[in-house]
Amino acid sequence: MTSLDFPGMLVWMSANDLPLDLPVRPSVYVVHGNGAYANTRQALRPVDLSAVRGRRVLLKPNVGRVAPRGSGIVTDAGVVAAVIDAFREAGAEVAVGESPIVGVDVREAFEAAGLTSAAAERGCPLIDMDRRDSVERPVPGGRALHRLRVCPEVLEFDFVVSIPVMKMHMHTGVTLAVKNMKGCLWRRSKVELHMLPPVEGSDQKPIDVAIADMSSVLRADWAVIDGTVGMEGLGPSAGEARPLDAVVVSRDPFAADAVACRLMGTEAELVPHLRLGAARGHGVIDLEQIDVTPDHWRDWISPFAPPPKDLTIAFPNIRVLDERSCSACQSTLLLFLMRYQQRLLDYFPSRQVVQIAIGSGHAELPEGTLCIGNCTARHRDGRIFVPGCPPVGSQILTAISGEPMADTLDGCSKRAEGKEAQTRANSDKP
Ligand code: SF4
Repeated sequence: MTSLDFPGMLVWMSANDLPLDLPVRPSVYVVHGNGAYANTRQALRPVDLSAVRGRRVLLKPNVGRVAPRGSGIVTDAGVVAAVIDAFREAGAEVAVGESPIVGVDVREAFEAAGLTSAAAERGCPLIDMDRRDSVERPVPGGRALHRLRVCPEVLEFDFVVSIPVMKMHMHTGVTLAVKNMKGCLWRRSKVELHMLPPVEGSDQKPIDVAIADMSSVLRADWAVIDGTVGMEGLGPSAGEARPLDAVVVSRDPFAADAVACRLMGTEAELVPHLRLGAARGHGVIDLEQIDVTPDHWRDWISPFAPPPKDLTIAFPNIRVLDERSCSACQSTLLLFLMRYQQRLLDYFPSRQVVQIAIGSGHAELPEGTLCIGNCTARHRDGRIFVPGCPPVGSQILTAISGEPMADTLDGCSKRAEGKEAQTRANSDKP
């Protein structure tokens, strides 16, 4: 047995790359119908937290974007507040940390999500995990990844709790407790997972293999999945909010994800990174091998709309040429098109189809293609080019109109407005 020197995290590996201390039959607890805070407290009640007494516990919610409670984009503050309270009562020293997507100020994201006040009321530190230098760690047996640059807090805390939102995801099927740990990768190194070359001998998408690789070393000790308001369709940020009022808890993030998948109307076996990670022994996704409490948890299954397979249906007359882009440019472009599709077409009245390129993998591009993001810079001659990594909506509007224009939602989700009422209806106070 070898230690990879990740104190407290479950990274004790056998020579054949299998974690050794997974329970044979993981337990998962589901609570539904009482609001974010009460659901979470109830779901954590049967969980043995005695190991955390006198130890440091890092809570890793999904607050990678600037969006309010109830948007389905960020973890509900009531869930995070309940986890803080439960682990504190168990004797732990607790902090909340996040490394957001490129271009997002994590302090703004904490504030918008209601975490700043929830943490302040409890005297719980909020950590910008990008503010210090990264630490590089190997990924033994990795197929798409061999090293990761992780935020130092991941190594300094004794335990990590992954607290994602239940979301569909346009590139990875779903994003839950396993994938949420990607937010422990330092700054721009997250982007690298979206820009990997094909994996030799595999027909899987490199991002799926990379998340399965990551799950061997960046594995949370507990998963608390927030299904208060999830996201269906075009997750992780451009879908529709989907109230469910459920919370799922387990020590095995794969088992928690498998149960959450079922609640969302899908199967973990259909999610490549979960299937690949489970096949390598990083967790259990076979529901027959998981003890789920209560027995009638399937009564709460409420299928989420899956991500659309073909975005050109959503945006007629617009063709997106995407070669090796990352999710930051993809989400920027999606959100931009959802708001400004018609305005974009109006700027090019003579074209039947407006072509837009993102990503670094284009050998050539058709004349007149709108090039978005620094990755397309080498094709800029004679074309409209929008710099940025990723650019924001104002830059795209300015580039296509030829005059300075502002997009009031720069850096924010389109859902950042008008959702507070729904938020309050669906979430109890932290
Ligand atoms: S330009 Fe866009 S696709 Fe390229 S690294 Fe930056 S965000 Fe990703």
